[in-house]
Amino acid sequence: MPELPEVEVVRRGLERWVAGRTVTEVEVLHPRAVRRHPAGGEDFAARLKGQRFEVARRRGKYLWVPLAETGTSVLGHLGMSGQLLVQPEGAPDEKHLRIRIRFDDSAGTELRFVDQRTFGGLSLHDQTPAGTDGLPDVIAHIARDPLDPVFDDAAFQSALRLRRTTIKRALLDQSLISGVGNIYADEALWRSKLHYDRPTASLTRPRSAELLGHVRDVMNAALVAGGTSFDSLYVNVNGESGYFDRSLDAYGREDEPCHRCGTPMRRRAWMNRSSYFCPRCQRPPRTTA
Ligand SMILES: [Zn+2]
Repeated sequence: MPELPEVEVVRRGLERWVAGRTVTEVEVLHPRAVRRHPAGGEDFAARLKGQRFEVARRRGKYLWVPLAETGTSVLGHLGMSGQLLVQPEGAPDEKHLRIRIRFDDSAGTELRFVDQRTFGGLSLHDQTPAGTDGLPDVIAHIARDPLDPVFDDAAFQSALRLRRTTIKRALLDQSLISGVGNIYADEALWRSKLHYDRPTASLTRPRSAELLGHVRDVMNAALVAGGTSFDSLYVNVNGESGYFDRSLDAYGREDEPCHRCGTPMRRRAWMNRSSYFCPRCQRPPRTTA
């Protein structure tokens, strides 16, 4: 699954290449790509036609484009393999092209949704009331992400201490903090020298502030690493590791030496996924040791 930095790179690409453009034609080439739009592909295409795209928005891993003066947004689900591509008109169709959106201007490009595994798609949703950036109603429960300028650090830290949960579960809880997936959770925990099973109630405020700082740092580093790709015409998201595997300190490094102490890194099965950690720098809590 793409994580926040990858989705932000796509958002910036949409902002640069399609904001302000008016849709003239929509082709839905595969019904699964609009299955989250219950009224179906024809309705999706008809309602989108003639609408003007505003600047794309993002909350956590969710991406949407408000339609000017409609109270409606196009929500993009990238799923496992979804890509939003801005391509020259007339460029050969991709093998897994699912939706094509043409515009009424002379920019010479169109927006394509390409998705090999068709877990992703596009759908239209009403926006929640004013003041929420046109947030689609179906994601109104998603908490702000740590790169959001109005993310409330103090409220997050208080919520952590009150929850009877463990730290990695809390980081992945999208109603508490959004946009942190398995990779960046492991990276931030490694930097913070915290074991993933540490109870959240045991974190002091300075420790939770430090963790939040590391979450932001790993995401910002990833954004810098992926930052060149939105400068080109080709707007792309694919695969779990994105553009940034080389800079990882924890994720995917089983048996490789810890970049801090040299101890071989470990992998443990965790909630149908894996957790990577240094057994020396990130000591397990006593209750589960
Ligand atoms: Zn270590």
